[in-house]
Amino acid sequence: MLNNRKGLDQETVLKTLLEISNATVFTKDLRELTAFVREQLSKLMDTTNFYIALYHPEDDTFTMPFFSDTQDHFERVPAAKTLSYYVVKTNRALLVREKEFRELVKKGEVELVGTDSKVWVGAPLRVHDRIIGMVGVQSYTDENTYTEADKNILELVSYQIGLAIEKKQREEEFRIEKTYFEQLFQNIPEATVIQEYPGTITDANVAFNKLFGFEEGEAIGKTLDELIVPEEYRDEARSFTERSFRGEMIETETVRMKKNGERIDVSLVITPFRISPEKTIIYALYRDIGKWKEVERSLRAAKEKAEEADRMKTAFLTNMSHEIRTPMNAILGFAQLLSLEDLTPDQKKEYVNIIKNSGDSLLRLIDDILDLARLEAGQVTMREEYVNIDDLMNSLETTFSELIVSHHRAEAIELRRSNPTQRLPFKVKTDPLRLRQILNNLIGNAIKFTHEGYVEFGYQVTPNRKELLFFVKDTGIGIPDDKKEVIFERFQQVDNSKTRVYPGTGLGLAISKKLTELLGGRIWVVSKEGEGSQFFFTIPLKNLENDISIGLRLSGGASITFREDPRGKRILIAEDDEFNYKYLREVLEKAGYRVYHAGNGKEVLHILEREGGKKVDLVLMDIEMPEMNGFEATLFIKKRFAEIPVIAQTAYASPEEERKCLKAGCDAYLAKPLQVDKLLKEIKKFL
Ligand code: ADP
Repeated sequence: MLNNRKGLDQETVLKTLLEISNATVFTKDLRELTAFVREQLSKLMDTTNFYIALYHPEDDTFTMPFFSDTQDHFERVPAAKTLSYYVVKTNRALLVREKEFRELVKKGEVELVGTDSKVWVGAPLRVHDRIIGMVGVQSYTDENTYTEADKNILELVSYQIGLAIEKKQREEEFRIEKTYFEQLFQNIPEATVIQEYPGTITDANVAFNKLFGFEEGEAIGKTLDELIVPEEYRDEARSFTERSFRGEMIETETVRMKKNGERIDVSLVITPFRISPEKTIIYALYRDIGKWKEVERSLRAAKEKAEEADRMKTAFLTNMSHEIRTPMNAILGFAQLLSLEDLTPDQKKEYVNIIKNSGDSLLRLIDDILDLARLEAGQVTMREEYVNIDDLMNSLETTFSELIVSHHRAEAIELRRSNPTQRLPFKVKTDPLRLRQILNNLIGNAIKFTHEGYVEFGYQVTPNRKELLFFVKDTGIGIPDDKKEVIFERFQQVDNSKTRVYPGTGLGLAISKKLTELLGGRIWVVSKEGEGSQFFFTIPLKNLENDISIGLRLSGGASITFREDPRGKRILIAEDDEFNYKYLREVLEKAGYRVYHAGNGKEVLHILEREGGKKVDLVLMDIEMPEMNGFEATLFIKKRFAEIPVIAQTAYASPEEERKCLKAGCDAYLAKPLQVDKLLKEIKKFL
């Protein structure tokens, strides 16, 4: 059948067919493939004007992946009425010379598109029973270029060409799809990696490298474990990998590590994909949730704080109600008892004492609450002055020794005053009232929480000479390790239960801590449960150089700087509070005055009347006193002994109060707590 023109033989044709069928393997794309087909075909016929037209039924067009033509260059053309379409439509190879062409035109089958050719040969490209296009050759010059034999050969090879083109198209589609998915993978904004068993990274996208700080390609071939899993999360990560390779999808939040070691909070989703019966890959997606975690953490902290505040409030109310009720019950109870007729003087005295003590504890409680509230609101300011610390310690020793005796604890507890190796040769600039308050709290606690043994307190200068270190040590019940911090918070007690044994509000240490900080120091505790506790706090030694010189000048033993000799002038102190009285007596006697005491207004009058006003040079009048208060007493004094100056002292520091004092006849007015130098100055004015 094959014609032997150009020395054509069956072997050449077969070889050409084989070459074409192999061409799909080594040609890069459709264009290259068709070029190769043309080259092979040229061994069999003239392919000067060769083209391949792929038919697209959806829009009835042809595309030309390859067009080698001396005359025309089509890329995409409408199919209608072309010779090419005629071949596709009839599904037959065709050889047309000018004459046949005109007949076809006449019949209305075709129209001339492009240049008129002398001879045209075309064959359909079939893949199985589908026609995907056609292959054509033509000559514009010589109608003898092709014969029926060429048509047959073209028809013969066209099947192989169709198959090759189809295969190439598939490959190309696949490549496009692959590129598409690769681009998609690379550019999704979530950090993503693909792993193969047992965990080797085969692909990591741009967002992954950006999030974890890797160069492009750096992660590939490594495992996630070695790259981004912090040591402490290795076990967890390994289990995620194993489970997901077994087909489980994992969704979790965890911590991962950047290349520079920085830890980040991430949400992690691992999805397994079975890509063949034997092969599963896993796809891990990371999202930086640091910001969310931060928000979550602060929300949780706020919630916990609110809950804690709520618990505190409840504990506080329970506590308060207990702390207020106990003394209140005593006050009301014993007040009622006092009204009984047949009481002995001793009984009366005892009841009054109980009422007074209960009142004192109520007052202390209220003071504590107010103090803490003021401290927390930042309303407390320090009133610094030069303080003789040893005097302060002596005074504390006196106070607490008396307290232990009066509470019948002297048998069980020894109060020890630890002396520093030498007395401080200078005064310390600090707020003495606040310092005393801290020590009061600590020593009070030590006594309260010690059943037997001793309570020791003292101070020393720290080795760097920058601070004073105070300590209060006891052999009491001690504090468990997990409570050593919280007891410094307000309302916190080792035993917060309702049935607790030791009275208290849990405010003392909170106040002490705030006060220490306000004084510029720190406070802490060292303790062993069952063996005892040792509280420490520091205060700074400020302006030391100055202070030393001032201190040395003043350190003649007296704590009072005002030392003019008033030659035994006599002052009557009207004061119901024993401690206050002792304090004033201490101060005034040190300043050289002689001191008398009256416990209430009536006693004042009594003393004055008895001596005819002769032995008293000045009255220091407390306003709040039982039986007869300071106002009434002053009115009386001014009526009978107008020449005796009266200085009022009151805890209610207000202009209103001052006016009331002056109206009652007081000569001067001082607010408690009394400041020594002010008091002495005021007294000096009148004496
Ligand atoms: P309060 O004594 O009114 O309860 P504080 O704030 O002074 O309040 O003390 C808080 C808690 O610290 C006490 O309830 C007690 O549990 C513990 N604590 C304080 N001082 C001592 C101490 N010296 N020994 C044992 N526990 C103490």
